[in-house]
Amino acid sequence: MKLLEGKNVIITGASRGIGMGIAKVFADHGANIAFTYSASEAPALALEKELTEKGVKAKAYKSNAANFNEADELVNNVLKDFDGVIDVLINNAGITKDNLLMRMSEADFDTVIDINLKSVFNMTKAVQRTLLKQRKGSIINMSSVVGVKGNAGQTNYAASKAGMIGFTKSVALELGSRNIRCNAIAPGFIETEMTDKLDEKTVQGWRDGIPLKRGGSTEDIANACLFFASDLSSYVTGQVLNVDGGMLT
Ligand code: NAP
Repeated sequence: MKLLEGKNVIITGASRGIGMGIAKVFADHGANIAFTYSASEAPALALEKELTEKGVKAKAYKSNAANFNEADELVNNVLKDFDGVIDVLINNAGITKDNLLMRMSEADFDTVIDINLKSVFNMTKAVQRTLLKQRKGSIINMSSVVGVKGNAGQTNYAASKAGMIGFTKSVALELGSRNIRCNAIAPGFIETEMTDKLDEKTVQGWRDGIPLKRGGSTEDIANACLFFASDLSSYVTGQVLNVDGGMLT
C-alpha cells in the first residue's frame, strides 16, 4: 500500500545520507519530492533522475537553508513547480563542527546553529502561510539523540538539536488547531557520510553499546518519517521519536 500517493514533500539536504534515504522511500510511496542541496550538485541531479524514474515528480534545488531569503524563495519556487500544494516539510539539512568547548570558535558555534536550527525557523516560516491556507500539513524536524541527552565535544550541535525540539513542540501547540502537525525524530547512530568521518574503532564501540547491536540505516529513519508524514500519525503532534536502536533506553 502506498502511503503518500500524490503528496508534495519538501526535504532539505537530500543530496546524500538520511535525506536521500527519505526521498527514495517517500517516492516509493508515491510522493512528489522537492529537495535541496548545498554543494553536491551531481548527486542531487542523479537523485532527481532516479526519483523521476520511479514515476513521481521530483526536482532538486540549490538552496542554503540557513539563509532566510533563500528559504522563502525556495518555497515560492516549489509552489510554482508543484501546483501550489505542500503537504509535508522535512527539515533534515544539518552539519557538525565538533570540538571541546575550550577549543570551539565563535564561528563554529554560529554556523552550526544557523544551518541546523535557524534553517528550521526559515523553512517553517516560509511554508506556514500555505499550510494554514490548506488547513493541513505535517512538519518533521530531524533532531538527534544528542539534542535529547547532550554530548561532550558537541555543545554547538547538541544546542541546535535541543533547540529544534523546543521549536517543534511550540509549533505543534501554535498550529494544531489548524490541523498542522509538527514532530521531531531523534536518530541515534545512523551510518552515513556524516559518521564516515569517525574512525572505525569509535564506530565499532558505538555499535557494541547499542542494545540492537548495530548502527541505524537511512531506511530506518525514512520509515519513521513515513509514519509522521502519512495519515497513520494523524493524531500525533509535538512528539520526539527516538530512532536509536535503544541507545537512550
Ligand atoms: P550528511 O550525510 O552530511 O548530509 C547532509 C545533507 O544536508 C546534505 O544533503 C547537504 O548538502 C545538506 N546541507 C548541508 N548544509 C546545508 C545547507 N546550509 N542548506 C541546505 N542543505 C544543506 O548528513 P546525515 O548524516 O544524512 O544527517 C542528516 C540529518 O540527520 C542532519 O540534520 C543530522 O544532524 C541528523 N542526524 C544524523 C545522525 C547520523 O548518525 N547520521 C544522527 C542524528 C541526527 P550537500 O551534500 O550539498 O552538502
